[in-house]
Amino acid sequence: MHDFRYVRGRLQCEGVSIESLVKKHGSPLYVYSSNTLSNNFNKLKDALSSLDHLICFAMKSNSNLGVMRTLSDLGSGFDTVSGGEIKRVIAAGGNPRKCVFAGVGKTEEEIAFALSKGIYSFNVESEPELLRINRIAGKLKQKAPVAIRVNPNVDAKTHKKITTGTYENKFGIAFEKIPGVYARAAKLKHIRLRGLQMHIGSQLTQVKPFADAVKKVAPLAARLKAKYNIEFLSIGGGIGIVYENALASGNPDWWNRKEARNILTPEKYAATLLPNLEPLELKLLIEPGRFISGNAGILVSRVEYVKQTGKKYFAIVDAAMNDLIRPAFYESYHEIVPVKQSKKRVIATDIVGGICETGDTFCKDRPIPRVSEGDLIAMLSAGAYGFVMAGTYNTRPMPAEILVKGRKSTVVRKRQKIKDIWVGESTAPWQK
Ligand SMILES: *Cc1c(COP(=O)(O)O)cnc(C)c1O
Repeated sequence: MHDFRYVRGRLQCEGVSIESLVKKHGSPLYVYSSNTLSNNFNKLKDALSSLDHLICFAMKSNSNLGVMRTLSDLGSGFDTVSGGEIKRVIAAGGNPRKCVFAGVGKTEEEIAFALSKGIYSFNVESEPELLRINRIAGKLKQKAPVAIRVNPNVDAKTHKKITTGTYENKFGIAFEKIPGVYARAAKLKHIRLRGLQMHIGSQLTQVKPFADAVKKVAPLAARLKAKYNIEFLSIGGGIGIVYENALASGNPDWWNRKEARNILTPEKYAATLLPNLEPLELKLLIEPGRFISGNAGILVSRVEYVKQTGKKYFAIVDAAMNDLIRPAFYESYHEIVPVKQSKKRVIATDIVGGICETGDTFCKDRPIPRVSEGDLIAMLSAGAYGFVMAGTYNTRPMPAEILVKGRKSTVVRKRQKIKDIWVGESTAPWQK
């Protein structure tokens, strides 16, 4: 469920009309709903309430300070993947002690910084990294809290670019090697074995891969608890969201319909996994990104031109792959709707950006009501891996971001000024 819907034929986010936001702030424009963020967070929290748990929002999915603060005010911790992200947590008013630090490439500087801020745990991805953390913690006369990331070798059955839990990819340490790694880690003076971690992939729409992974890893976690007194098990993120019926899924009634029956919900997730997790008596960590932020954001764009070539009908809009790269990068689907409900004839439309790349295409032959120059459209489910992946390719400024709460709205990131795109650049001194 989410808070984007038509009210009297106009798309709104909570109590605010999208048209009015574009009038005030221009386009392209990201718009986020506070209420959707909170509801998504609370749904997970409620589903897991029988267990001592910590939700660490995977901020790589959306690291806007206003979005992060909305979540930290609800008690969320953060799954961070760089020193920069830990600094962002602090800038947003979040608590580094509720943060885990993940990622395969942590630098010495990042490790020292994370230690100095007292993070909850390093999610360690290799033995060389473990040795490096031990050495740096020694220099700082500390004991670094760590969890080692186990790669359970289960196929998440999702897109190849977002599968992480098989031996085909770079993440974690193979399941069979874990006992040996913990035994060696236990001998390191400046390491405190605090947990065990896994994450098998993103946008999982079925509970089965999660269930398979938990069944495989739970006995291992129990053994590590008995031997090394670990405190927590993190089962990662990856809960998928609705992309194809995004607008309809904003309506609670839709969830009783046939097409909703197969969708993974926090209730199904918890009901399937908790029976295997509860007996462990370990604290549970989860690291959801997309589930919390994905359907809490949209990208609004204006049609600049329409053009017909041969049999094809194109709408060229003012957003492009630099604003939202997911369709170009993952061939992903975003539902696209007119901001003003339309009764025009439905025609197969390619909605494209203005960048000089064939990949700069948001959808192909999509049946939507005919659009004209000046119309506003909204790309739904753009709150995760949207703005955070934006760039300035073609010297296009980063779009603005708006946070809505009820009838209030505020700019949580100003539109970038064009001259700020080359801040820090210069010509060379010999180019007099
Ligand atoms: C990306 C990532 C997540 C979040 O994934 P979502 O699919 O957005 O929930 C969680 N944990 C780790 C280790 C990740 O790399």
